Amino acid sequence: MSATRQAAPALAGGDTPLASLRGVGDAMAARLAARGLVTVQDLWLHLPLRYEDRTRLERIVELRPGVPAQVEGVVEAVERGFRYRPLLRVALTDDSHATLVLRFFHFRAAQAAQFRPGARLRCYGTPRPGQHGLEMVHPSYRLLGDEPAPALGDTLDPVYPAVEGVGPATLRRLIGQALDLLPDAATLELLPAGLAGLAGLPGLRNALLALHRPAPDADLAALAAGTHPAQRRLALEELLAHHLSLRRQRLAQQRLRARALDGPGVLARRLLESLPFSLTGAQQRVFAQVREDLARPSPMQRLVQGDVGSGKTVVAALAAALAVERGAQVALAAPTELLAEQHLANLRAWLEPLGIRVAWLAGKVTGKARTLALADVASGEAQVVVGTHALMQEGVAFHDLALVIVDEQHRFGVQQRLALRDKGPAHGLVPHQLVMTATPIPRTLAMTAYADLDVSAIDELPPGRTPVTTVVLSAERRPELVERIRAACAQGRQAYWVCTLIEETEEDARPGQGARLQAQAAERSFEHLSQQLPGVRVGLVHGRMKASQKQATMRAFKDGALDLLVATTVIEVGVDVPNASLMVVENAERLGLAQLHQLRGRVGRGAAASSCVLLYQPPLSALARQRLEVLRGTGDGFVIAEKDLELRGPGELLGTRQTGLAAFRIADLARDAGLLPQVHALADHLLAHAPDVAGRVVARWVGGATRYASA
Ligand code: ADP
Ligand code: MG
Repeated sequence: MSATRQAAPALAGGDTPLASLRGVGDAMAARLAARGLVTVQDLWLHLPLRYEDRTRLERIVELRPGVPAQVEGVVEAVERGFRYRPLLRVALTDDSHATLVLRFFHFRAAQAAQFRPGARLRCYGTPRPGQHGLEMVHPSYRLLGDEPAPALGDTLDPVYPAVEGVGPATLRRLIGQALDLLPDAATLELLPAGLAGLAGLPGLRNALLALHRPAPDADLAALAAGTHPAQRRLALEELLAHHLSLRRQRLAQQRLRARALDGPGVLARRLLESLPFSLTGAQQRVFAQVREDLARPSPMQRLVQGDVGSGKTVVAALAAALAVERGAQVALAAPTELLAEQHLANLRAWLEPLGIRVAWLAGKVTGKARTLALADVASGEAQVVVGTHALMQEGVAFHDLALVIVDEQHRFGVQQRLALRDKGPAHGLVPHQLVMTATPIPRTLAMTAYADLDVSAIDELPPGRTPVTTVVLSAERRPELVERIRAACAQGRQAYWVCTLIEETEEDARPGQGARLQAQAAERSFEHLSQQLPGVRVGLVHGRMKASQKQATMRAFKDGALDLLVATTVIEVGVDVPNASLMVVENAERLGLAQLHQLRGRVGRGAAASSCVLLYQPPLSALARQRLEVLRGTGDGFVIAEKDLELRGPGELLGTRQTGLAAFRIADLARDAGLLPQVHALADHLLAHAPDVAGRVVARWVGGATRYASA
């Protein structure tokens, strides 16, 4: 026992396994571990969701509906019955002579028998208006015997996030034990006292105790909002740890070796000469940065941000040409088949005339075609390989992979990207990584989320594009819109009609269900619009269609054989039809700003004045209106991203998949964004003056997860 308590100094006892707590056997330890609770420190950081105030008693007469309270009283009457289901009602009264009804639907016979008239009871719950005055449904309660009533608590009771298979009382007890093992403040604290960024915040030990055992007069509103100084102290250290971890990762990356792709650039020059346009200044600048990175013998780690339509693909193709020139292979991965197909088409059109072989590897490539593709990739015959997640699977081996390009990286899981990077040549060389995103990320957030990457921006659109006019309209005005589409199509223009789910209840967590309902919504709109617009050629694309069908429809639209394309959000990325100048988005209020901005980027690609109509289902909440107004007001992806962060939080910006960064225990990037400048300054300071401290902060918060956070 004492051996396990001899904690590694780095964690100040926090790495003691939970099995050393009283009452934790193998089964319990396994249940805790399933929730990520393995060490004592994990319990320190398992923070309450909310608090219950059992430090005082309320008189029944003073109870207010909706306000949780603790009361003590005597059972007046008990009623057991059955109305659709078993029912137990207990009338409780106190000196205030008012009555409170306790109502139970699930109970055991023995439990019901406890409530004899005259029994004394202390209970806690939220009163609600019932048939006979206020009632509490399933309050927590304890029966008081004849002996004097137990003392009231002197701290607020924490309510913890549930752990499957571990009752709340057990969990509270275990966390209590873990807190008893908290070392003194000086031992626990890693951050040197007096650091500028910590002014006004409590030390770590006090912060933890203030959150697990808050005093009765604690600022509950601040705690609920996550702005309490104790929460800010923990969030700060956690953000700092992740940021440091990425920075250290980057330093480590810089020590890795990569193949220098430093040829004369003949292929790239020929590609440039073959293009029907010349690069924008921004494209030239970013390509020059990429070229410089690639020429070094350490792996490039570059994120290229560029608004939809800013022309990232051609920069990727130029980078690929540099790699191929040196005899190396390139992999380009896109998150959806449609997008990957478009990349394939672009790269084939641009690179094959230069004699470069481009192979295709997606989930739907099976059988003989797959075997052939795999053989070409393995032999190096295929110089550029375009695909989806299929590229990252086991069994895909490259001959000499030197450059990995990932489009719309936020849609990939971190492990998937790592898997691709790990397909580099065995002899100690790591592929260069070029990551592209159309989701602009506010600067402070990018500094945190991508501290391991160099970030460059293509912040200029190719010439000849006209800005898209955006209008926000109630769905009640749909008939006018249909008219407008008829007029536009009569003039030879094309339009998109984008469908999203209609009813709240249709959101469904079951995998595949969302796609099915989306598809149904699109099918309905397709039927209606086809009826209402007899002279118009209408097509339909949704995620549940066969890829070949989808592609055929997309191609027909691109070729002008269709006038109106009804689609789900699958067209968000991956379509480029310059003649399409009108887009309607149904239930626009349901989509995130970043996604709407991406959708809108599908129009305004040609010379014609374009518009985007955001249809909403009334009534529109104030927040939803504010969000749609943002889109109406600006076409600048960076401004939209800032607003989105403000109004909605970073989850959407960074993608919903686990990013490593989303896996914060305490911090919330939207709520705590204000801490980021402090975090960056602290990180600079520690890396320069106390790298050992930096290492311990990372070990405490990120530990073995470093690899995930870095991809
Ligand atoms: P995104 O950055 O959204 O991936 P794409 O790479 O798909 O944008 O480019 C959008 C369209 O703009 C494509 O049709 C592409 O060929 C074209 N394009 C790219 N660069 C230029 C340029 N400098 N001038 C004109 N058109 C360009
Ligand atoms: Mg793109």
